[in-house]
Amino acid sequence: MTYVFPIWQQPSVPVAGSPALFPVRRIFCVGRNYAAHAREMGSDPDREPPFFFTKPADAIVASGSAVPYPPATANLHHEIELVVAIGQGGANIEAGQALGHVFGYAAGIDLTRRDLQNAAKAVGQPWDMSKGFDQSAPIGTIRPATEIGHPGQAGIRLSVNGVLRQHGNIADLIWSVPETIATLSRLVTLAAGDLIYTGTPEGVGPLKAGDQVAGEIDGIGTVTIHIT
Ligand code: MN
Repeated sequence: MTYVFPIWQQPSVPVAGSPALFPVRRIFCVGRNYAAHAREMGSDPDREPPFFFTKPADAIVASGSAVPYPPATANLHHEIELVVAIGQGGANIEAGQALGHVFGYAAGIDLTRRDLQNAAKAVGQPWDMSKGFDQSAPIGTIRPATEIGHPGQAGIRLSVNGVLRQHGNIADLIWSVPETIATLSRLVTLAAGDLIYTGTPEGVGPLKAGDQVAGEIDGIGTVTIHIT
């Protein structure tokens, strides 16, 4: 096969303990999946089924990278999230079978142009440009489930310049990883290479140029970026 111009590089994420990379196919994200964060965003966490938005695969940023403050926003926010890496695809996956489709887990940051998101919400417009912009999906090394299993609880936190901003526990996900996979697989056919950012705990807040951002999920991994 030839193309009319050179094909771009496949976005990928390092895998712990392996020289092989995880090739990123699509990036799905869950909205408002921790009760306290849903409340801080002005929603009722008890009345909402899970909902999804996406980022382009090439929004991936390797941990340790410098990320330029993005254009078209004056309110860039951090959201630390557990990321599920899908290793086996499928449609209409039962929650009881869902973990068998998981390759591994990582810590990720769902960077958000909060001002654009709030403006979009106010008039019922899509979130694409507030969520799916360039370099909006930093992610750390993926830890294979064959190594760490499927953690049901783990501390999750994010600090900016050494000051703790977010902390929670993945046990407090409103929709668990199996439920999220089951629900998403009824909307699209999942495939190996898909990533799911599962939502953020409370404490989201603004970033500025110069900030050192460090996220961590106990037993899973870290993700760091430097805003320039
Ligand atoms: Mn998020």
